[in-house]
Amino acid sequence: MKRQIGFKYRLDPTPEQAARLRVLAGHSRFVWNKALAECQATRERGESVPRYNTMAGWLTAWKRQPDLAFLTEAYTDNLQQKLRDLDTAWQRYFAPELDAEPPSFKKKGKSRDSIRFVNFPKYCALGHREVKLPAGLGWVGFRQSRQSRKRRPFLPTAERGQVEFALNREMPPTVGKIKNCTVGLDGGDWSISFLIEYEVKVPTHPAVTAIGLDMGVAHFVTDSDGKHYAGRNSFRHIERRLAKAQRRLKHKAKFSQNWKTQKARIARLHHRAACARCDTLHQLSTRLSKSHAMIAIEDLKVANMTASAKGTQEVPGKRVKQKAGLNKAILDQGWFEFRRQLAYKQAWRGGLLEVVPPRHTSQTCPECQHVDAGNRVTQARFHCQSCGYSTNADVVGARNVLARAHAHLSGRDAPVAPVK
Ligand SMILES: [Zn+2]
Repeated sequence: MKRQIGFKYRLDPTPEQAARLRVLAGHSRFVWNKALAECQATRERGESVPRYNTMAGWLTAWKRQPDLAFLTEAYTDNLQQKLRDLDTAWQRYFAPELDAEPPSFKKKGKSRDSIRFVNFPKYCALGHREVKLPAGLGWVGFRQSRQSRKRRPFLPTAERGQVEFALNREMPPTVGKIKNCTVGLDGGDWSISFLIEYEVKVPTHPAVTAIGLDMGVAHFVTDSDGKHYAGRNSFRHIERRLAKAQRRLKHKAKFSQNWKTQKARIARLHHRAACARCDTLHQLSTRLSKSHAMIAIEDLKVANMTASAKGTQEVPGKRVKQKAGLNKAILDQGWFEFRRQLAYKQAWRGGLLEVVPPRHTSQTCPECQHVDAGNRVTQARFHCQSCGYSTNADVVGARNVLARAHAHLSGRDAPVAPVK
């Protein structure tokens, strides 16, 4: 069975290399925007949006134009990659089930800059703390910051493009192939992500227990054994500092040196919040995944929930402010990210993540199965109107989620009764 994993490290380019990377990023922004404008013009003429092969033809033609001669110095593989990304973005937009936004123009300093180096074994090479990149970059240093902290070796082997790494401390090192790497600019720092493909035998999960999880705002996660796990509102944590930094930005002349410095400071605050959040989520998802062979969660459509607050101009949403607050907490705690982590960590260990429909999980009595909106006395308290069973509402949710997953796995889905 083939699996893929990404490893992300801080990249340390020299000033010359950083300048070259910025040029490459500029080229790819230019090509993305120009191709996007052509696509939009095609659509306006009532024709269908061209696919990748047509766009690749444009690129060849642009390179022959005297005013676009700088493109001949660009890194062609990356430009083609950007056109593939644009093609994918359009296809996602045209897929009704995805509900995706159309591709948009990339602005310098606003959109995330990234450069992908494909066919790693052929064009790149991995050293111990450096990576050789094409397009006139040469050897660029990167920090194995992760390695020292979590003792994950990430070492080149004798074969080009091959890497030895450990998924975690308990597992023996694995050997994989680097498929590609992406250099990106996050909050003023350069980073490099390696995408590695490796072969695994399907493992057997060491634990035999199963657990249900209820995701909430008061407690980030509650499990069916009654344990609460706090999330980390990392954004709220730095919100005041961020607001202050943003106020300061207002008083600075736009595009002045001071303005740029302040802007970078804000980007760094956002970046730090994201890192802290990611760390907390990883700790929790690892802990849960290690201890339970089966984890059941609700299928919360976070995208829909967050979209509903504002409503549309014709149909404004109700209780916008309360919902917006709730939405912010949901987004802040990274529910989607948490689910993604649980899914792949369970897959690593040979465990299972069961995602169950969320209907009435908070209103069904786990003791007698009585469904009643009145069972939920308050946000925090559950009291069954039929049998009198009383406990914390989040625990009820988690127990019901677990019961539903068991029912699903054994082929009998729990009946979902209407609320009275
Ligand atoms: Zn009951």
